[in-house]
Amino acid sequence: MSHKHSMILLYLIVAGMIAGLLAGWIFGKDVLVIEWMGTLFLNALKMTIIPLILAAVISGVASMGDVRKLGKPGGLTMLYYLLTTIIAILIGLVLVNVIQPGVGVEMNAQALHIGQQKVMSSGEKGFSDILLSLVSPNLVKSAVNLQLLPLVFFAVVFGAAATTVGRVGEPLINFFEGLNETMMKIVGWIMYFAPIGVFALVASALGEAGGGPAFMLTIVGIGKYVATVLIALSVHAVLLFIIMIVMSKRGAVFLKDMARALLTAFGTASSSATLPLTMECARENGLSERSIRFVIPLGSTINMNGTALYEAIAAMFIAQMYGIHMGLFAQILIVITATLAAVGAAGIPQAGTVTMLIVLGAVGLPAEGIGILLSVDWFLDRCRTAVNTWGDAVGAAVLNKYMISSEEKALKRALEAGEVTADQPPG
Ligand code: ASP
Repeated sequence: MSHKHSMILLYLIVAGMIAGLLAGWIFGKDVLVIEWMGTLFLNALKMTIIPLILAAVISGVASMGDVRKLGKPGGLTMLYYLLTTIIAILIGLVLVNVIQPGVGVEMNAQALHIGQQKVMSSGEKGFSDILLSLVSPNLVKSAVNLQLLPLVFFAVVFGAAATTVGRVGEPLINFFEGLNETMMKIVGWIMYFAPIGVFALVASALGEAGGGPAFMLTIVGIGKYVATVLIALSVHAVLLFIIMIVMSKRGAVFLKDMARALLTAFGTASSSATLPLTMECARENGLSERSIRFVIPLGSTINMNGTALYEAIAAMFIAQMYGIHMGLFAQILIVITATLAAVGAAGIPQAGTVTMLIVLGAVGLPAEGIGILLSVDWFLDRCRTAVNTWGDAVGAAVLNKYMISSEEKALKRALEAGEVTADQPPG
């Protein structure tokens, strides 16, 4: 897509989002008649996820060459994501301790009831479940349920294995390379529908919540909580921005290039559905193929900075509401469990609200407390999803230099081994 086209598209998506907020605000539930347009856009994105993620990760990993070379970039990526997740949680904890949004909040019976129901239907999840979710006994079932973590895991193993089987592996790798390019083409086409899709998704989410006046009413009750989450998300997003500028020497243009993906993340409340667009925007920005095909898909499944931060704040908010004191030990436990809960959360709407049960369970807080948070969750979910996507994108930018140097090394090795000639780089 040319620069001019992508700028026009960006303005149209912004306009779509604003128009969506207005329509949802004014028409309330009536606006749900256009919900199908948002669903269509969402489905189109979801349609690409499974083939894209498999093709991108397999060809990305295979391009690293020798499987033993995979350890370092993989380890660095995981370390980077872990660190930024912990930073996000610490930002959340500091702010929630300073602002104390839960002190003096009245809990109403209906909210508690909804929380109870949600908790009962979601079931407990523990640490071992997260490890178990890494390896799927049935890849097709995982694909059907859009559980991306086991698919990414499989693709990494598959890509690595394909490089060790010699010549017979080459057509396979070429196939996934071609599949990746083709899927990216389709994503580029779907992007043209983002303005309408985002418009319809945002309008129907606000409409579903009862429109503007109903939303304002809930905001009045727990506005301090909403403000705490929003401030913390903004602080973290700005911090990531600074990290990106310092570490990758990329400037505001990176943010502008990623804006279409970020707005789509807000519109869809799903970082998985946004993943194809995140990759497309990163490509337009000129990031190396390895950071796009390896760092971003991995990040979209395990790196959820916004979710981690939100879970820490929400848990503390519930404690404050119930008047339960949370000491240093309990807060350290929150850091650990919120990290795990964010890794375990799928990139789908409100996944973080459910995995928060891990945090609440670990520190002994009543799970029904979630009820009161649900009224604003449709909105906060969208904001944290945008930060999740931003975290993945910045990760790719930060690790880009390292990925380029390993790409160059691989090319040099191939040249030396006579596998390619200087004017015909490996596919
Ligand atoms: N909706 C978020 C995402 O897709 C996950 C969450 O609920 O926090 O990234």
